[in-house]
Amino acid sequence: MYSEYKDALSFTYDELIEYLLAKGEKAYRAKQIYEWMHKKLAVSWDEMTNISKLMREELAKDYSVFPLKIVDKLVSEIDGTAKYLMGTSDGGIIESVAMTYSYGMSVCISSQIGCRMGCKFCASTLAGLERSLTASEMLAQIYLIQKDMGRRVDNIVVMGIGEPFDNYNELIKFLHMISDERGLNISQRSITVSTCGLVDKMYDFSNEHMAVTLAVSLHAPNDEIRKTIMPVANRYSIDEIIKACHYYVNTTGRRVTFEYSMINGVNDSGECAEQLVSILRGLLCHVNLIPLNDVEERSHTRTSEQGIHYFQKYLEKNRINVTIRKGMGADIDAACGQLRRKYIKQGKALSDNLS
Ligand code: SAH
Repeated sequence: MYSEYKDALSFTYDELIEYLLAKGEKAYRAKQIYEWMHKKLAVSWDEMTNISKLMREELAKDYSVFPLKIVDKLVSEIDGTAKYLMGTSDGGIIESVAMTYSYGMSVCISSQIGCRMGCKFCASTLAGLERSLTASEMLAQIYLIQKDMGRRVDNIVVMGIGEPFDNYNELIKFLHMISDERGLNISQRSITVSTCGLVDKMYDFSNEHMAVTLAVSLHAPNDEIRKTIMPVANRYSIDEIIKACHYYVNTTGRRVTFEYSMINGVNDSGECAEQLVSILRGLLCHVNLIPLNDVEERSHTRTSEQGIHYFQKYLEKNRINVTIRKGMGADIDAACGQLRRKYIKQGKALSDNLS
């Protein structure tokens, strides 16, 4: 319920009408305020110049407008990738990344502060989960980046810190609001959500009938290997994941993406490639091979370029759609959770930046 919200960005359109009517305001004010927040990307009541000063003061007593601030920004000298550290109003730190390609700007957002999935090669999960983000904190990452970069966000990937399906309801609310024509109106077709494979939620997500692409972090062709790198594999088998993927494809008509991070000596053998082909046979899918990003605290290293190339060729020969992910922002720790981790380890006084 909206009485629990901390910021006005959290209101759905209908809730905003309800709230304003309860305050004795006219319903058309909701349209104006919603537009200020979600189209003109205002971060304070004071910017809303067609709302009277008195009314703005009244609203400010109940809610702040915006839940996030940019704390730091690093820009890659190699490819212009911009990495943002953003601070929440309760002192949490998350990361968001803006990548510019020939076809537009893609933004990678976080869904939680920290993560509790425990993948052995990932920096985001090292200190566990602090809390999930609200839908408004997911929206705010995109709004801040669009304003800061001075150009429209074309694509969104929910692949930053956190497990989006461990924050399911806020994720779905966010997806509806970001693709709403009363807001930024970003096409669902341009959005991808990545999960480590929470099977129950994969079914729920399919049943939402959204045109959002589902990406699944597979990273292994069998449960035995997967269990050594992803604790979630003890909860759900690959067999169950693949069945849920078939369900997604059948209900949405959309292709599923598999992420497969190439880890030296762990999941990159010829036998692994063979097994992968056999479990994916007959499924409308695409495999994205990711050269592992080395993480200081983690022992795993990436497969050689030649090894990745060999793996790719084998999948191609067996008519599996496959690409190798282009590394972006290599000089600014652009991979999952690495910058946040450094920032926190250095013990920067976050409150200084957030005041
Ligand atoms: N929790 C979600 C989304 C966040 S991680 C998920 O698991 O899909 C986004 C992707 O980056 C996942 O595929 C994740 O496994 C992968 N990843 C995490 N750390 C990595 C690293 N050090 N190198 C390469 N890929 C990594």
